[in-house]
Amino acid sequence: MPFRLGSIDNRAVLVVGEQLYDVEQASHGSIGADPLAAVAAHNELGSLADRLATGSDDAGRLDVLAADATFDPPVPKPGAVFAVGLNYRPHAEESGMELPTAPLVFTKFASSIAGPMSEVSLNSEHADYEVELVVVIGTGGTSISTDDAWSHVAGLTVGNDISDRKLQFAAKPPHFSLGKSRDGYGPIGPVIVSTDGFDNVDDIALSCEVNGETRQDDRTSNLIFDVPYLVNYLSSITTLHPGDLIFTGTPAGVGAPDGKFLVPGDTMVCTVDGIGSIETRCL
Ligand code: ZN
Repeated sequence: MPFRLGSIDNRAVLVVGEQLYDVEQASHGSIGADPLAAVAAHNELGSLADRLATGSDDAGRLDVLAADATFDPPVPKPGAVFAVGLNYRPHAEESGMELPTAPLVFTKFASSIAGPMSEVSLNSEHADYEVELVVVIGTGGTSISTDDAWSHVAGLTVGNDISDRKLQFAAKPPHFSLGKSRDGYGPIGPVIVSTDGFDNVDDIALSCEVNGETRQDDRTSNLIFDVPYLVNYLSSITTLHPGDLIFTGTPAGVGAPDGKFLVPGDTMVCTVDGIGSIETRCL
């Protein structure tokens, strides 16, 4: 059975229907409370969700329903946060950049990670939104083959790779990491959905609205470098660990080409089909 894994008060929780279950208590201690421990135990979560869905054991059931809960980032403290630039052809074109022949990988520092309902201090007049499918590594490894890649993925979540365009291109040659890593510039969530929770895990719709206006709308089948490619590529260079995140790139429709930068008071809603939405208010 697919699972939906979140984090509340720094404890892993499973969403089963409308109910929430504390993973450590529901598993009778066999899985730790730490969200990273739950991610690392991703192969056990499907059967746990299955058992909880029968309703025969209410150990660990929270009083609050999922719809009323305040979720933390599903991986509050990832070890590594990779992100891929220019990974949808129309976005590379709108950015005036050449199509990459190798993945354009940069880092978002973990301190930029924020929850699914968050406020972000822009601290820039050139801040921009980027909805992205985010891969959560569940089983680490090196030199993971493309055939094995999906089995190393705990699941998928929604991300917004908020970007300070001026800072991103301030240095010559440009480096993206700092311009993508202001505090709160990496909201993710609301939950991690296991890969068997999608009709076709290689073709998932994603979109971004700003103040209710749809700005981005595409499907992950249009990725230039797809998830198995990225897992293979990154793991051939550096060991991947449970909880590492890969922001896979954003579709066309970002604000920069038309000078539509974010301003305080704006609200971004990023959605990935089958997972849900994250909402970020700009300060
Ligand atoms: Zn991005």
